[in-house]
Amino acid sequence: MSTTTYEEPAPTPLALLLLGRGSDPASERGVDCPGDLPAASDPDLVARARAAKAALGDRVFVLGHHYQRDEVIEFADVTGDSFKLARDAADRPEAEFIVFCGVHFMAESADILTTPGQQVILPDLAAGCSMADMATAEQVAECWDALTDAGVADTVVPVAYMNSSADIKAFTGSHGGTICTSSNAKRALEWAFEQGSKVLFLPDQHLGRNTAVRELGIGLDECVVYNPHKPGGGLTVEQLRAAKMILWRGHCSVHGRFSLDSVDEVRERVPGVTVLVHPECKHEVVEAADMVGSTEYIIKALEAAEPGSKWAIGTELNLVRRLAKAHPDKEVVFLDRTVCFCSTMNRIDLPHLVWALESLVEGRVPNVITVDPQTAKHARAALDQMLALP
Ligand code: SF4
Repeated sequence: MSTTTYEEPAPTPLALLLLGRGSDPASERGVDCPGDLPAASDPDLVARARAAKAALGDRVFVLGHHYQRDEVIEFADVTGDSFKLARDAADRPEAEFIVFCGVHFMAESADILTTPGQQVILPDLAAGCSMADMATAEQVAECWDALTDAGVADTVVPVAYMNSSADIKAFTGSHGGTICTSSNAKRALEWAFEQGSKVLFLPDQHLGRNTAVRELGIGLDECVVYNPHKPGGGLTVEQLRAAKMILWRGHCSVHGRFSLDSVDEVRERVPGVTVLVHPECKHEVVEAADMVGSTEYIIKALEAAEPGSKWAIGTELNLVRRLAKAHPDKEVVFLDRTVCFCSTMNRIDLPHLVWALESLVEGRVPNVITVDPQTAKHARAALDQMLALP
């Protein structure tokens, strides 16, 4: 008998960008989708996607990030987090076309890790990431100048979250740092503190703070936040010299929405619930939760959970909905009362996927994501360092 009482959260007016045509000038890559996009109401979309995929056969490999819509995940050859997907693509050198259903920085990483003969396609170029947008190459170069002026740059090791642009990964590689994911952030920080006495963690302040404080025992007072919109990051030379963790002032707009109130409210609404959140959530939310872990950790925790157990999950809504569906013997609720989709992830919908696949069938290769060789070389060094983490 099903015990699921999953309730769809209420929509918020700004939760979704308008899909299809149109542009978002504030987005990292805010551009239109060129060409004729099929109408979302076209009843043949599923059949068209199937036919195009069948016509392309092994020449195409479709990757679906965990936060993608169901209608897109249905056509994914593999699903996973961004790093797993990039590696999956690299393991399929026979696939000429990698259609990445995710966001821009993920497609860049796939381009860096795949062979020169493979082309990575992002079905909607406007699918950027607001967190990745929060750290540009110019801003990070200015930050490094501030660290140099404070006389501490020699002791700082940069650690960049996977959710960053190729430019930021390249900066990290060329300054002796490493990339990390939400699964290996602890190991990455331990390694970094063996190389130097300070870490510049970017772009997600929450993952950096949560990992440093909760897993490495670093004090909150040893963490400072560098604000790229203020001269010198808004920090004094003394603060930079005293800090162990220099956290970039960036965050995920999806995970950043969860609050202490959401945790209190769900505990009242669902007695006996276990609150499980992603480490991109704010520190106070992570502290108030029962468990914290990456997307893969969340998926595995639900798989291992006892039938009848109750879970409130603090991560992207498409994934939580799928988890609720996949575990009808458990009660899985969303941590917030309102919709919390990633609006840029949601830009990839079935019309964009059909458009990309049909373009390939017709011999046009749309929306190719390429990283220039110099940037790719340094970014690859940082990614390789992550792979070499003990
Ligand atoms: S969920 Fe957050 S980090 Fe992930 S793509 Fe969306 S905005 Fe970026």
